[in-house]
Formats: sequence, C-alpha cells, structure tokens
Amino acid sequence: MPQVTLSFDNGPDPDVTPRVLDVLAKHDLRSCFFVIGRKLTDPAARKIAERAHAEGHWIGNHTWTHETPLGRLDDPAVPDREIGATQREIGDLAHPDRWFRPFGGGGKIGPWLMSTGARDFLTDGGYSVVIWNSIPRDWEDHDGWPVRAVEHCAAHNHTLVVLHDFVAPAMANLDRFIGTLADQGYVFSQEFPDDCVLIRRGIATRPLDDYVQS
Ligand SMILES: [Zn+2]
Repeated sequence: MPQVTLSFDNGPDPDVTPRVLDVLAKHDLRSCFFVIGRKLTDPAARKIAERAHAEGHWIGNHTWTHETPLGRLDDPAVPDREIGATQREIGDLAHPDRWFRPFGGGGKIGPWLMSTGARDFLTDGGYSVVIWNSIPRDWEDHDGWPVRAVEHCAAHNHTLVVLHDFVAPAMANLDRFIGTLADQGYVFSQEFPDDCVLIRRGIATRPLDDYVQS
C-alpha cells in the first residue's frame, strides 16, 4: 500500500501548532516538525516543541532565519549561524539523526538549497538532510491544498508532504485531509522516503551536484 509521511515546517507557532498536534493525536499519527531556530527562543513556542517531542514527533532543523536559501549565501559564517545555532536551540529535543531541511524559497528544489560550506557543515556535523516530494502550497491556497496533496500522494509510492503549522486557515483542513487519505487506504509513516534523504548521518546518499551551489 502506498505510504504517506507528513511534515510541518516553519513553526512552532503557539496558536496553530497545538491544534495540529491535537489532530495528529486524534489519528494516532507521528510526524516531523522542522522548526525555525529564532521562533524557538519564544518560551511559548518552545513549550509546544517540547509537547510535540513528548508526543513522539521528531523535531528537525529548518534554519535560524528562513530568509535566504543557503546556496545563495557564501559567507563562511552562515552555516553555523543558520544551522548550528538552530541545532543548539533545539538542544535535547533533537533526533539522533539530526534532521535538517533546507529552505527552498517556495518549495523549489535546486542548487540553491546548499552552499558548499553548508554541505560540508552538514556532513561534518553528522546531520541528515531531508527534502520533499509534495509541496501542496498550503500557505497560499488554504482550502485548495488538500486536493493537490491527494494528487501528489497518488503519484508516489511514498509521499513526503510539506505543510506549515503557522497558517491557521490551512491547518483547519488537516483533519479532513488525513481522513480522506485514511479512507483511501494510505499507510502513514513517520519515516522519510529514501529518495528524499540527501545526506544521512553525515553521509551523502547520492551525488549532491543538483542540490549544492558550485
Ligand atoms: Zn520553510
């Protein structure tokens, strides 16, 4: 049966993330939350990340500022400032695989995902780099994204969907979306599809030329 993995980026959000956690708990699903480092410095957001971790979700790193794809920044200080600082802020909520998801600028995959410095920082630091194969654009189409996401799920054996746990009107459709997939017989998994993991515990799983700015 085809599998689906849900992931939630750009949080945690003290208002929206708890509602997402409630929906996931209702369906007994576990996910990964790729958090923005500077948001975690808010104690209320930190508490939500702690709740997610306690409920069995994984906490991944999604850069400190989420402003510019790392491949477009060649300042050698950037990888530690964006990736290292976020990982330190995540602290004991981190998964042993040290999940990191690069910022694509609207979900686009290409060499802008990583600079050579960021790639080296991630491999040297034993990180695992996770991309995606479904961007239903929930942040801009609050009610239309579930239809697109269901189409994406039908097109893969294992779909890794990127959603955003800071967009309340989009997340209002999450419960119904999960119900639709369950009714169609999809199996939910917390694991990522192999073809979405570019680096695993510091080891590149394939040539990275398509994902690193040369
Ligand atoms: Zn993002």
